[in-house]
Order: sequence, then C-alpha cells, then structure tokens
Amino acid sequence: MASDVPEIQLPPELRPTDGRFGSGPSKVRQEAVAALAAAAPTYLGTSHRQPTVKNVVRRLREGLTQLFSLPDGYEVVLSNGGTTAFWDAAAFGLIERRAQHLAFGEFSSKFAAVTSAAPFLEAPQVIESSPGTHPEAEASADVDAYAFPHNETSTGVAMEVRRPAGAEGLVLIDATSGAAGLPVDPTQFDVYYFAPQKGFASDGGVWIAAMSPAALERVARIKASERWTPPFLDLSTVIENSRLDQTYNTPALTTLFLTVNQLEWILENGGLAWSTGRCDRSAEIVYGWADASSYASPFVADKGDRSHVVATIDLDPALDATTVAKVLRTNGIVDTESYRKLGRNQLRIAMFVAIEPDDLATLTRAIDYIAERLAA
Ligand SMILES: *Cc1c(COP(=O)(O)O)cnc(C)c1O
Repeated sequence: MASDVPEIQLPPELRPTDGRFGSGPSKVRQEAVAALAAAAPTYLGTSHRQPTVKNVVRRLREGLTQLFSLPDGYEVVLSNGGTTAFWDAAAFGLIERRAQHLAFGEFSSKFAAVTSAAPFLEAPQVIESSPGTHPEAEASADVDAYAFPHNETSTGVAMEVRRPAGAEGLVLIDATSGAAGLPVDPTQFDVYYFAPQKGFASDGGVWIAAMSPAALERVARIKASERWTPPFLDLSTVIENSRLDQTYNTPALTTLFLTVNQLEWILENGGLAWSTGRCDRSAEIVYGWADASSYASPFVADKGDRSHVVATIDLDPALDATTVAKVLRTNGIVDTESYRKLGRNQLRIAMFVAIEPDDLATLTRAIDYIAERLAA
C-alpha cells in the first residue's frame, strides 16, 4: 500500500515527542486523557442532569468567562453538533433579515452558503478575497449581522476581531480554530463561537458560544417573532439550558471533560496571554524556518495575516508536498497535508496551544532532513 512512499527513516533526535500536527482535530494532551481515565468511573456514563456533569459544564462556562475576560452580561452557552450545527442555529436565531459574510476559505464560505440557502433570510452580502488573504467587513445599514472567522483554518489566514467602524449589527465570529490561540477583545464581538476540537484540544460534537447582551436580546426578539425554528437549533432553548449548566439533549461527556481540562490548564499557566504567547512562539519557529528556507515559504504573503495557530507552507514545485507528508506519516508524524480543496503544493501545520513549540522546531528539522534526501 505504501510502496510509493520513499523509505526515509528519521533519526530519533528528529522525532517530535508527539507526532500530531493536524489542524482539525488537534492533538489532545495525554495528561487530559489520563485525567479523564481517572475520573471515568464516577463521571462517564452518569446523568448529565446531575451535579457531577453539571459541575463540569459550570467550570466550562465560568472558565471561559475568565479566559476571555467577558464583560458583565455576556453569557457562555453550549449545545450539540459542533460549529456546523451552530451555523444552522445562527441562521434561525441570530440573523434577523440579512447577513454580511467575509468568505475567504472553506469554512467562512460554508456559513455564507447556509444563510444564502435559508428561505426566511434575504440573500447575504458576501465579500470574498482570494485564498491567502482576507477582505474587510464594511458597515452597511442593509445588514443586521457581520460574520467572519477569527482564523480561516483552510488557508492559514487570521484576522483581527474588530467591529466594522460605524456598524450596528451583531458581530458573529467563528473562533473554532482561533479561540485560545489568538488574542481577542470581547467588546469587539457579539458572538464568539467554536467547537472544542481545535484550540481547546478536545474531541468534537459540541459547540460553545460567548454571547453579548445584544446577541441574547436578538435571540429573544426572533423567538418572539413568527419564524419557525427546529427545536434542536432553537437558541433560546440553548440559553435556557446553559443557564442551568445543562444541554438540551445528551452531550458528549468526554468532549466536555477534555475541554475543561485544557481550559483549566491554560488558566493555571496564565490564561489567554500565556496561550497566545505560546502560539506566537510556535509561529515564529515555523514561519522563521520557512522564511529562511531555500525550498519552503509561507503561503500567506502579508505577515500580519499569517495565522499563529495554523501555518500553511508552500514547497518548491521540485519537492512534492504530498510525498513529504507521506514520509512524515510513515515516521509517525501525521496530518500535515494541506487543505485538499486548496490544491497547492503545501504543508499545513497546526500550532495550537496543546502543541509543544519545541516539537514544531523538531518538525521543521525533520522536514529539512526529508527534503534533502528526496532531492538527492
Ligand atoms: C473545523 C472548523 C469548522 C467546523 O467545525 P465542526 O465542529 O466540524 O462543525 C468551522 N469553522 C472553522 C473555522 C473550523 O476550523
């Protein structure tokens, strides 16, 4: 099966302590898994309506309030189905009439497709830019919500979370890969939503959102209107349940536990300043290596747009990125392939908080080692 993969064995000093560099899902810290195993006999398989699980949800909500320094009146809410389910819930419960989307990659385009297809909404205003860049949101009296990602995971472009000057609508930020790894000022968003299998090094299946008073009010107003909403996607039900440290239906207890473990690990180490600083260091290592390399270069041209949680690195056409990723894989280093639809000769390397900066340094040396041997 792997017969087309050149046989290159990395020497022990070029093997990272952990070989997981995938951009989604993220490496899960083994310490978190061990803590889950220890807690399992009294936690897994117990009712999510009882204190044991509700305490975990409470720690999640309180911990995120602390991590993001949420102002009074903001609430952390959660439900099932991951970010993709949140997009549907947002179309029903947060967008009144028309949204503006910045679409500059796979994920930001997907949310735009959701609101485009919703029969109860007007066609959204979609502002696009080519992969590797991002457009800017523009205040418009004709939209009531602005949607953009903190980090476009498919291309490795990050953008600052900022309300468009003069905008009155809600600002909805997809922080699935950016949360915990990129700095954010909560006064600049109304909803900061994510699934925890990336920056929070957990498993998937759940979505979490920090909501401003304006967002909570919007949900209540749409709920009072005539719009029919599927019960599972009804944000007012989500808010009600979250206030009781519950979810509407059964959540993945493993996901909740691992998320809280990662969250509290970050808080114990110094909070968002620590976790974003760690990602800054990782980004310096990876982009610094690529900038200095004769055969690798950062895909994102503008340094300010380069994500500090997901690096996209183009390789010289003479060096096939797919082969490099395959050789890495035979050495236990996984998920460095580029986003397939981007169609570039590229490696994509996650630099999420859970990933050791030193392991990224080792990875860059491992890639150099492989590149040298493939060129020979
Ligand atoms: C991974 C990802 C998603 C999709 O998350 P799911 O939980 O799989 O639905 C959405 N947006 C961004 C920015 C992502 O990175």
